[in-house]
Amino acid sequence: MKRKTIFGVFILLLLSFSLFAQNFNDALLKAVQFYDANRCGPLAGEDNIFSDWRGACHTKDGQDVGVDLTGGFHDAGDHVKFGLPQAYTAGVLGWALYEFKDQIAAAGATEKLLKTLKYFTDYFIKSKVGSRFYYQVGEGEADHTYWGPPEEQSSDRPTYAWADSSKAATDVLSQTSAALSLMYLNYREINSSYANQCLTLARDLFDMAKSNIGRGNGQSFYQSSSMYDDLSWAATWLYVIDNDASLISDVKTWLQKPTQNGDVPLNQNHWTMCWDDMGLAVIAKLGMLTGDSQYISVLEENLRYWLNDLATTPGGMKYLNNWGVLRYNAAESMIALLYYGHTGTKAYLDFAEKQLKYMLGANPANMSYLIGYGSNWAKHPHHRAANGYTYANGDNQKPAKHTITGALVGGPDQSDRYVDDVNQFQYTEVALDYNAGLVGALAGYLKYAGGVIETPTPVQVTPTPVENTPTPTPASEYTVGDVNNDGNRNIVDALLIAQLYVGLPVPTYVVPEEYGDLNMDGVVNIVDALLIAQCYVGLPTAYC
Ligand SMILES: [Zn+2]
Repeated sequence: MKRKTIFGVFILLLLSFSLFAQNFNDALLKAVQFYDANRCGPLAGEDNIFSDWRGACHTKDGQDVGVDLTGGFHDAGDHVKFGLPQAYTAGVLGWALYEFKDQIAAAGATEKLLKTLKYFTDYFIKSKVGSRFYYQVGEGEADHTYWGPPEEQSSDRPTYAWADSSKAATDVLSQTSAALSLMYLNYREINSSYANQCLTLARDLFDMAKSNIGRGNGQSFYQSSSMYDDLSWAATWLYVIDNDASLISDVKTWLQKPTQNGDVPLNQNHWTMCWDDMGLAVIAKLGMLTGDSQYISVLEENLRYWLNDLATTPGGMKYLNNWGVLRYNAAESMIALLYYGHTGTKAYLDFAEKQLKYMLGANPANMSYLIGYGSNWAKHPHHRAANGYTYANGDNQKPAKHTITGALVGGPDQSDRYVDDVNQFQYTEVALDYNAGLVGALAGYLKYAGGVIETPTPVQVTPTPVENTPTPTPASEYTVGDVNNDGNRNIVDALLIAQLYVGLPVPTYVVPEEYGDLNMDGVVNIVDALLIAQCYVGLPTAYC
């Protein structure tokens, strides 16, 4: 009887999969439309696909410093406007449009994508006032105490961070410069005057970034581990525009400088493109553009590692990191597809296809991780506007009031398990940067594999205990709780967090951020220190 039940379920699964067709054009359009959900400012509700639940918000941004800093985008499920992920997103979306213009047009997504990009660059342009570039509005800790729609958030939002001759932010300025250069390239035939305005600012920010070297302040949320990768990313796109060989020579020098993690991008990079690390993107673009064998070998080693050595879940998902894992797979897929276009090596296309299909529903959970796509998707995204409730009575844990169509959620864990819980934001958060690589990957896949892809084959896996899955550790990966990244979570980590908590200085290599948040409550504090200490002495807690 039991066997029959299992067989019946299997047949039902087969049937549901045979009705399930992955339309990558539709996925691409939706992934682009997602950005409307995170618009900020007085114009947030205009021409917004989510206009029934999104409208003007944060209309006083910048008033505390006498500047109009309204506009831009909320970062993720929260409402802070962080500099680095906004610039990263605008850059990668611009890159996707630059490389895959025809496929984006075929999906009907060009108009929305251009409007989104202009919403970013309009904000970047108004953020440069005199000799200052403002790059963060809102303070992360304070913002994260609020749960509710952005339109109703009335608390003060400080203008938190800016760069000028005395405050360095090479990483943020450089990524913003690259996004503006790409806007110039994408927009010069549409509106040359606006395109030139973008290019002028791109050069200006690049000069600022170079003349005062140092990392910007992204609080604990977006503190980058390097800046020369970003500077190289800005130089890459100015090189595309100017063909100035001195830029190439500078990039070679910059990529030999170690990051805070001790990695040297020009030696090896097993990570992927993300807001913190543009090394691989630079190496891929310049490698393909110039044929430089040093770049090509780093790129090929990165792809070899991802295809062969990186931990893979039983369902076939590549597993780099527990926080928003799918963003990395999307970004790596975009890079793999670009290099497939350059080499014709089918393994790169196959890799991207497998990861994208997994995201869109061909996975053991039979779940589309792109909300509003397919028939079964996450109902509890960690996104305040879409959720539409407040913390009162735990209402925020109800299914979201509004469907945030096109949002890529963080994704499942190492055993292909997805926890659809608004408070488990490693799984359920959505963010600007998550979708950026996905847009590029979907457009790239459409270019090389074409149109509507039927996927009638369900993924059948034999569950494998998580502890048996080999998990090679990439150079930049952290264990949660291991804030000094020495490979062990121990009493030293607990003491470092305690030091931070009481305001004592800690060494610069300590990265508390998300890696110190052992109980995953969104803050790194004394509780995390105590839990780490408990784990260390062998006392039982749920977090060891
Ligand atoms: Zn807002």
